[in-house]
Order: sequence, then structure tokens, then C-alpha cells
Amino acid sequence: MSRLTNKLISGTLILAGITGCSRYVNQSNLEINHQNSYREVVFKDELQGWEDLENLSRNSIDQEEAWVYLPNEKKWVETGVKEGKRKNEIYVEYEPLVFHQLMLKHKDLVSYHLHPINKAYTSDGLVYNATPSGGDIATMIVLSNELPHGKNFKFTSKVCSVYGVMEYYLTEEGRKVYTSSSSLDYVPLKNLFNNPDNRYNPDNRARLILSLGNMNPIEKCSAVADFLSNEDIKVKFTPYPDMKEEPNNQVLKKAITK
Ligand SMILES: [Zn+2]
Repeated sequence: MSRLTNKLISGTLILAGITGCSRYVNQSNLEINHQNSYREVVFKDELQGWEDLENLSRNSIDQEEAWVYLPNEKKWVETGVKEGKRKNEIYVEYEPLVFHQLMLKHKDLVSYHLHPINKAYTSDGLVYNATPSGGDIATMIVLSNELPHGKNFKFTSKVCSVYGVMEYYLTEEGRKVYTSSSSLDYVPLKNLFNNPDNRYNPDNRARLILSLGNMNPIEKCSAVADFLSNEDIKVKFTPYPDMKEEPNNQVLKKAITK
């Protein structure tokens, strides 16, 4: 384990059992909700949602959450359940049933989850924290494989951190590769990504970040996104709008002192 990956790693989105929760409560802002007896629903557009997510990623220490954003309705639906911490990993689970229900009604879905801050993070730790874990990529592939097939279906995944939003999705080529494979279970995929030769292995990403030296964190996040992209899986980083005006280590200072 490198010195970045042996610290607390936040944010893996994993499959859960079924809680049977079907009560929805409207809220005005995206929040962390650890009550599994109801789900929060927020009506606001994607960029307005980012303002909440930026705030949550800086202030919700070690607190995870996940949502689905429906662009056509400008609607956020909380999907995370059983948020928790185990060994050195913070995680949030989602229910496949909720995704199935949303997929039946909507042809454009964005899966979101949060990578909250931990006070022990260094600047490079925060860059690492901005990236989707191997488990996150595995979840995205498993969910993509659940999509009703057809060209007019859009599905992408995004993870939010203090610096911005990192999007990861299967390309058209990737959809062919992964949907034609017979074993698309979460566990084998996650294990594949932990292989030292795989680009999604956490140590390879940590090594890359350390090699970027004094580059500013926003540029480092973009460099990691490029490193994680190939012809099957694309990863793109977009800083929050206010980060563009302040692309330097002040961001880290601000995040940690809050
Ligand atoms: Zn994650």
C-alpha cells in the first residue's frame, strides 16, 4: 500500500440488499440522510445540485451519500442506504431495485455519490479522494449492464469531492465489451481492478498522483482522469465553477480549516 492508499479511503458505492423503503420526502437541498426509513427527493438542476455537493464534500467529514439525478425532470433521488465505515473504507450502498424502478421510467440517469473529506488528508490525498475507486468503476459497469439495451439510453456515473466532479462511464465500445461478457458481478470486477497490472488499481493511481509533483490540484485531477480513461471507459474531471477562479493550494486550506 502506498502512503496515499493506506489512509482512510472514502467512498465506494456498492450493491446492497433490499431495505423495502418506498417513502419519499421532498427537501430543498441535498443532504446526508442516514435514516433508511425514507428517501430524500430534491428538485433543482444539476449545477445547483453541485453547490450542495461542494458544500457537503467539505463539511460532511466521513459521511457518505448517493443519489440519482434525472436530467429531464431536474430531480435528485437519494439512493444511498446503509452508509457506513469498515476497516479503512467508508462506503455507501445502493439498492438495485431502486435503480430498476428508475430505469423503467427514465432514459437518462446520472448516478452520483459523494467522497467526503477526512481531516487526515494531504493535498495529494484530496486529489486521490477526487477519483472513482475500482469498486466505483465496477458498480458503474454492473449498473450499465442492467440498462434496458438500446441506443437511446443514457447512463453515466459521477463522484463529487472538494475539487469538483469526476464523471466515469462506458463508451459505446465499452458497452459492447462489458455487456457481452458473462461474468459481470461486482466482486470479480472489483477484484480485477485490484490486480497490480490494472490501471484502476489504487496503488497505480496513487503513484501517478505523487509523480505529478507541484502541479496544482485541479490539473492533477484532470491528469488522473486522463490516466483512468481508455477506449472502453472514459473518465472526465470538471472543477466546481468557483474552483476555476482559485486553482491552487488555497482550496485545500479552505477545505481543511472549515
Ligand atoms: Zn466512491
